[in-house]
Amino acid sequence: MTDTPATTAPLAQARIAVIGYGSQGRAHALNLKDSGLDVIVGLRKDGPSWQKAIEDGFAVAEPSAAVAEADLVAVLTPDMVQPELYRTAIEPNIKPGATLLFAHGFNVHFGQIKPRADIDVVLVAPKGPGALVRREFEIGRGVPCLFAVYQDTTGHAEERAKAYAAGLGGARALLIRTDFKEETETDLFGEQAVLCGGASELVIKGFETLVEAGYQPEIAYYEVLHELKLIVDLFYEGGISRMLEFISETAQYGDYVSGPRIVDDATKARMKAVLTDIQDGTFARNWTEEYKAGLPNYKRLKQADLDHPIEKVGKALRARMPWLSATAPAAKPA
Ligand code: NDP
Ligand code: MG
Ligand code: MG
Repeated sequence: MTDTPATTAPLAQARIAVIGYGSQGRAHALNLKDSGLDVIVGLRKDGPSWQKAIEDGFAVAEPSAAVAEADLVAVLTPDMVQPELYRTAIEPNIKPGATLLFAHGFNVHFGQIKPRADIDVVLVAPKGPGALVRREFEIGRGVPCLFAVYQDTTGHAEERAKAYAAGLGGARALLIRTDFKEETETDLFGEQAVLCGGASELVIKGFETLVEAGYQPEIAYYEVLHELKLIVDLFYEGGISRMLEFISETAQYGDYVSGPRIVDDATKARMKAVLTDIQDGTFARNWTEEYKAGLPNYKRLKQADLDHPIEKVGKALRARMPWLSATAPAAKPA
């Protein structure tokens, strides 16, 4: 744990260009501005974000113009558009000695972006979606941030990264030092093996098991998907011990004897294989090729998920639970 104190002082004279105004971009731009820093937002003129950033009170310019006048450029567009954005708008325009900042190390770590040698390159990655980064800042708190330095030509890279994290509110909570490799590989592994890939497949296989055994899909949906939130909330608040505290003895005993039958050492061995594909660049290469080819497999696999019976039954059930849609906007990227 790196609990390093930080203030925005090293960026007090800096102009910050935030490129992209989505989940992270909007939260970063607003928090930095409210921390007293000078922010310009870089966007394409024909995109839907342009008007939104203006309505929020920002100076907005095309990415190349925003970059040209900035001392720090935060790249907060989707990862797959960043290499082209770097080539066309950033590389030709960024000032020598300026700081190039990412919120995820993917493109730099896997060599999709090779930063110019005369700039600093850093990472500040809040450990939460943009809406939470904004909400916590507004109530005087902050979301913990990872920070890292990839390239330090000025000798000021680290203090500027920490100042940016302070501007987001992250220094009110916790700043953890990392490097681009660790941030990138652990982020990819988490989302693939556990959070997105692992959790959704676990739910789908559980649903199929119950439905194929003749149980009603509506009841299967509640048991394996809907109620997952209760468990995850307990994990989030107090780890596995808090979950064990709140579930019945019967559920605990079932957890102890059946959990390891479902997720066992063979699963862990496959997790290691997934990690190896991430570490040796196989995943990044496949994903980059897929993106360039127009996402044929991505679209097919996504459609298969959307067409799964659990989605049909889920849609009908959620329509009868109005409190779900009442809370949905807060959970979505702003
Ligand atoms: P989003 O998908 O929310 O970014 C969308 C924004 O990018 C929109 O404002 C869009 O503008 C803009 N954009 C898209 N293409 C371009 C382009 N070619 N030129 C200029 N602007 C463009 O991104 P996220 O906030 O999810 O992710 C940003 C970065 O943060 C990524 O590196 C991601 O890995 C990282 N990250 C994300 C987290 C999250 O919770 N989402 C958490 C931690 C890190 P338009 O309206 O014109 O389309
Ligand atoms: Mg990720
Ligand atoms: Mg268990």
